[in-house]
Amino acid sequence: MADFSSRLLRWYDVNGRKDLPWQHPRTPYRVWLSEIMLQQTQVVTVVSYFERFVAALPTLPALAAVPLDDVLALWSGLGYYSRARNLHRSAQICVAGHNGDLPRDFAALVALPGIGRSTAGAILAQAFGLRFPILDGNVKRVLTRVHGIAGWPGSRDVEDQLWKCAEVYTPGERVADYTQAIMDLGATVCTRARPRCDACPVQNACVAFRDVATAELPTRKPARLLPLKTTVMMLLRDPRGRLLLERRAPAGIWAGLWSLPEASDEASARSMIASAHGERADRAWRALPMFSHGFTHFRLDVTPIEFSIESNAIAEADDRRWLFPAEAAALGLPAPVRRLIAQLT
Ligand code: SF4
Repeated sequence: MADFSSRLLRWYDVNGRKDLPWQHPRTPYRVWLSEIMLQQTQVVTVVSYFERFVAALPTLPALAAVPLDDVLALWSGLGYYSRARNLHRSAQICVAGHNGDLPRDFAALVALPGIGRSTAGAILAQAFGLRFPILDGNVKRVLTRVHGIAGWPGSRDVEDQLWKCAEVYTPGERVADYTQAIMDLGATVCTRARPRCDACPVQNACVAFRDVATAELPTRKPARLLPLKTTVMMLLRDPRGRLLLERRAPAGIWAGLWSLPEASDEASARSMIASAHGERADRAWRALPMFSHGFTHFRLDVTPIEFSIESNAIAEADDRRWLFPAEAAALGLPAPVRRLIAQLT
């Protein structure tokens, strides 16, 4: 479609979002942070996390200078914590090798941890006004529908077609506004369920609209049964009501976050407690309602058990602390563990 970008820009001038916190000021650091937060999370959730994050760490060197624990605490609740670890690592690389700022160069940007082709494009377009396309989830949805492209957008050949469209449509002028415009169109008009085609600036060129195929496009990811894992989380309460928290290993799920001690099943949890704290601790326990948490590659069923122990025989260490539930909330905790601990307060 020859005038795709000009139609979108005219629509953006009237309907686009121009008051997002990362647009004022639109510095490379703020654009980068917002793009990373928006990778798996919707704008409405990201705004308050973004504001809290930049209030605490207003610049890239400030981010690079704090311990990872501080970054994880600010990220706590947003999920997909590898994003926070990559952000921190990338900031340190930029301080060491790019004068404390993000590079203005595509190859150097995609070399940073956590920055892929689309995020690099979004940073170059929005922060530097350079003509680079983006292809996030919203843009993929718009382009598959406009062109009637069938097939799961995560597959290589469909993604290649979509990148070609994205490259053609990205204009040389007002590239930052265009980038925001196509993201906004996907988020507010060309939504996954019930798109508002009547309000769409590209409706008369849209194949999905013409063919009444918006419900089928984009094609869903082929279904796959996720494997199930189980664990028992132990809420160990000492006589003062404090909880034992442990920092998780630097790799694996919830890497580097603070969490509860775990056992493979209820019997091993009880025997671990009995051997560390005596038979009476084993008797003073309470099972809490089980819950499930979904990860990308598996589902985790968690059985929480609360134990009251008479002495905290387990000593504190760098990676192990006894804390009151309200104190624990200040740490970087996985969201389900945060919810579980909140139930105790
Ligand atoms: Fe999306 Fe409808 Fe616009 Fe097509 S016409 S791009 S399906 S909102």
